[in-house]
Amino acid sequence: MPESADTPLGEKINAEIDLSGPMSLSTYMRLCLTHPELGYYRKSDPLGAGGDFITAPEISQMFGEMIGFWIAATWQMLGSPAKIQLVELGPGRGTLMADALRAVKNLPGLLDAAQLTLLETSPALIKTQKQALSTYNPEWIAEIGDISIDGPPLIVIANEFFDALPIKQYQKANGQWFERLIGLREGKRTWGLSQTPLHEDHLPAALKDAGDNEIWESASTADTVMADIAQRVAGRRGALLAIDYGYDRTQTGDTLQAVTKHRYADPLANPGEADLTAHVDFEALAFSGRVGGGQAHPLINQTQFLAAMGIGPRADALMKANPAQAGNIRAALKRLTDGDAMGTLFKVLCISSNELAPYPFVEAG
Ligand code: SAH
Repeated sequence: MPESADTPLGEKINAEIDLSGPMSLSTYMRLCLTHPELGYYRKSDPLGAGGDFITAPEISQMFGEMIGFWIAATWQMLGSPAKIQLVELGPGRGTLMADALRAVKNLPGLLDAAQLTLLETSPALIKTQKQALSTYNPEWIAEIGDISIDGPPLIVIANEFFDALPIKQYQKANGQWFERLIGLREGKRTWGLSQTPLHEDHLPAALKDAGDNEIWESASTADTVMADIAQRVAGRRGALLAIDYGYDRTQTGDTLQAVTKHRYADPLANPGEADLTAHVDFEALAFSGRVGGGQAHPLINQTQFLAAMGIGPRADALMKANPAQAGNIRAALKRLTDGDAMGTLFKVLCISSNELAPYPFVEAG
């Protein structure tokens, strides 16, 4: 078989491994996704039917509208303050926020109160977001530290953001846990294990009974981002809503995936040309929210969330208004809420300041 050519970023990564030794998956993912020139999110717009993958707001306007209702309900629960900072983490094409803000435009005061802040690193997506959201005068930031510790109440939205942050993987061998590292064998990237094992103190209790060869993933970047944002939400009052695919309890399993042109690919092949993600460990993420001083509400799934926000009646109204589109609207509703589509794989986590009980999350007791 002819040797397939590596990508320019792949060559850089191999040179780095040659120089410094095997590379942590978190370093590899960070380079693949956000390398300044060659990273996946730096180059182009990967979203939508013509791109590599499609997200809930790109499936139907109803998704963003339900988030809009949640923002409105949370703002009212905060006492309808005259100023809030509304932050979206990883806004993609800006579709979610445009649908959300359009849905609440008739609620007196909310749009005037909201200062819109978008956390984004992709120049291509920032351009698209500018087109979608310019009427709301958003500001762009590159990191959570750019959100000040003090200020008006905060409402934060993150859809399919945490899955895009770098993870590390560990594997059990001979009764001990080692980090999985990316090395080179005959010039090709390949998986290996660190020489020194992980100290037992660093392991979650859920791993106690794991057997040899099992893989555990830890998302230290996501955990830090969550703790930092929770600190601001707790201190300024407000709430964060994170929607993503993942599991509700820390568990073992390899969930690293590479997707290009709507197909799964080998994560070590073609760096910079595939989207790399991992399922979110919501138990760990909620814990980080508490570490930051926030209150983590019990996890619900996307079906429960969208139903509580009224997606059923909204779909009925849209179908009545556009009978010719009824089939498409019904299909989109199914895709967003069916158990075998996105409905149960996708979970919704809410972290709020301690006095708040945001709808539709029930108090933790
Ligand atoms: N929320 C959007 C897009 C999801 S894709 C939607 O639902 O359609 C992930 C988004 O996070 C993209 O906008 C991507 O550019 C952004 N992103 C990924 N890694 C990031 C990082 N480290 N910092 C800031 N934004 C990031």
